[in-house]
Amino acid sequence: MSAPRVEVDLAKVRHNARALVERLVPLGIDLVAVTKAVLGSPEIADALVQSGVSALGDSRIENIELLRHAGVTAPTVLIRSPMLSQTARVVEHATTSLNSELVVIESLSSIAHAMGRVHGVILMVELGDLREGIVPRDLPDVVGRVLALPAVELRGIGTNLACQSGVVPTTENMAALSAIAESIETTFGITLDVVSGGNSANLDWALGLAPREDPTDAGQLDGRPAGRVNELRIGEAILLGREPTRRAPIDGLHTDAFAVVGEVIELKEKPSMPTGVRSQNAMGEQPDFADRGPRWRAIVALGQQDVDPTGLRPPTGLTIAGASSDHLVVDCDECRPAVGTEISFEPDYKALLRAMTSPFVTRDFDDAAEPRVLSIVPPFR
Ligand SMILES: *Cc1c(COP(=O)(O)O)cnc(C)c1O
Repeated sequence: MSAPRVEVDLAKVRHNARALVERLVPLGIDLVAVTKAVLGSPEIADALVQSGVSALGDSRIENIELLRHAGVTAPTVLIRSPMLSQTARVVEHATTSLNSELVVIESLSSIAHAMGRVHGVILMVELGDLREGIVPRDLPDVVGRVLALPAVELRGIGTNLACQSGVVPTTENMAALSAIAESIETTFGITLDVVSGGNSANLDWALGLAPREDPTDAGQLDGRPAGRVNELRIGEAILLGREPTRRAPIDGLHTDAFAVVGEVIELKEKPSMPTGVRSQNAMGEQPDFADRGPRWRAIVALGQQDVDPTGLRPPTGLTIAGASSDHLVVDCDECRPAVGTEISFEPDYKALLRAMTSPFVTRDFDDAAEPRVLSIVPPFR
């Protein structure tokens, strides 16, 4: 098999998606499964669709096009505002898009009109995280203008927290979103089908995952209705089984659906202190060193061009000493993996995102649902 590669266990992805659907749907919340960290992989998208998610979301129109060309027919949501230069592609391939700029929505409408179609629009509301979104005071004006456009359908409103500033979804900001939805409905005499509350960081709020000192503390639903919030857009929690505000594993979900595998290209005993005058390394860092005497070090053919090395967890007995664009140096005094050995690592979200995006990294799909041991596999001779 070729290295480096990402190994994907589709059975675990399906299990995670299904487990979240089963917990959220009874609370009145549908799941849009977000595929941006897996470059719109059609294999993974199929696994997600089989698990009962209501739609697939991606931030890149290229990934949505890939899904369409692979024959995926599920509804798709572009979860980043369309670029003005890409609105024709968005109308062509995405069912709905998240929007915050009227000029973009006007372009979507005129293109959809010319194509004899109607494009779904969700208006994003800024609720404190200071990334995308219309400030609430300006929302009624934008809604009025969108309703007047001929070929877009206002499907609802949404918000996104946690990603930019780490602002946590709580009862308060989710209630604010519900109240905004209701006031828009009253003002305009319309019904908003979708109130899209956020991403994986909303699971603490929705499922009460966070340990709390005071159990009567608000900030979780505990089976109570989610106000008007009836959709979450979930990537990380499905793919890696973790909620992102504390990176805590979610009970009953697999955290090992993915592994990144690299091959050893050098194994030597070297001093642990560099020799010579030291300045910045290739990544602009000036690392510190402790003199631990001579150590066995392996180089894995895996670097910044393949993965974010800071997001890799190595197998027991190995520690990552550093990485440049193409070399991952691991301290391996105990196991000393021979040249040709394959080593698997557990990626976090940013490492997975980069590995799936790198043209140097292949993908290997499996459907076994077996426990994954981060392995060190010697070469066949
Ligand atoms: C990335 C993203 C998501 C999904 O985030 P996860 O943390 O992977 O669940 C949802 N909505 C928007 C707007 C995003 O950009």
